Amino acid sequence: MNLLEIQNLKVHFPVRKGLLGRGKEFVHAVDGVTFNIAPGETLGLVGESGCGKTTLGRAVIQLVPSTHGRILFNGEDISRLSATDLRSRRQRFQMIFQDPYSSLNPRLTVLECIGEALDIHRLAPDRAARRERVDKLLKDVGLDPSHADRYPHEFSGGQRQRIGIARALAVQPQLIVCDEPVSALDVSVQAQIINLLKDLQDAHGLAYLFVAHDLAVVEHISHRILVMYLGRIVEEGESKSLCRSPLHPYTRSLLSAVPVVDPDSKRSRIFLAGDVPSPIHPPSGCPFHPRCPMAEGRCKTEVPQLKSIGSDRTVACHLFP
Ligand code: SF4
Repeated sequence: MNLLEIQNLKVHFPVRKGLLGRGKEFVHAVDGVTFNIAPGETLGLVGESGCGKTTLGRAVIQLVPSTHGRILFNGEDISRLSATDLRSRRQRFQMIFQDPYSSLNPRLTVLECIGEALDIHRLAPDRAARRERVDKLLKDVGLDPSHADRYPHEFSGGQRQRIGIARALAVQPQLIVCDEPVSALDVSVQAQIINLLKDLQDAHGLAYLFVAHDLAVVEHISHRILVMYLGRIVEEGESKSLCRSPLHPYTRSLLSAVPVVDPDSKRSRIFLAGDVPSPIHPPSGCPFHPRCPMAEGRCKTEVPQLKSIGSDRTVACHLFP
């Protein structure tokens, strides 16, 4: 059974229109997305800034409300729970953020910050057990337990991300949504955090939804990858297969931006015209058509549906009948 099943999820935000703010338009941040995650699996979610991936990551764990669709976690639709019931389920799904500093209370020591998560879910019966558990968590993420009485500003960016991971891990979740967790870090530190996440996954059987704009990072950690454009999934596949032979023109352009170590590589950069269009007025037909180098007549009018290609790939593009 899947740990998480997302069925036709939509997140639309109202925005006011006109000088007097009369009338409403909607940002189609997530526009009919379906996928699943198995226990212990890492699903990468990749796309440019503004494509809706962060909103999707937050909607999956109900940090932003969904407009339509179902979010089945262990078979239970968490999008329909009362606030009280949702709070009691939160222990099972956690999030780590791009900027751990903004998610850590600067007035709390590391001990208090991680201990707070234990207290909320009543996971430590007394102070001694709480301290013991925090020490163990700090060791698990590669930090020195003797630094538990320090404040977040006394740590480097990579160490702060480790604290954020320890805090998420404290409540023994089954799923962690990782929202660009390494994009603010130096490349060498990025590798350390990715390896730490992999080790923790092996040790605890965690599942990750790993959100990032960098396909090279996503490929390294993910079992499968979803490529998102303007609120929709345009391609899905097993990680190595998708990166070896991308099908969708958008995936090809993202991959062409990844530096290649092999000097004999023939890969050339595909530059896309313009930015991601406004999700308030998405283009007709294929939402990618104004930027697609392979667009043809019907791309402007017909919306391509996701189709299976072989046993492990799906793509939404008219080039694949
Ligand atoms: Fe490009 Fe057309 Fe395919 Fe869209 S459907 S990605 S516009 S070729």
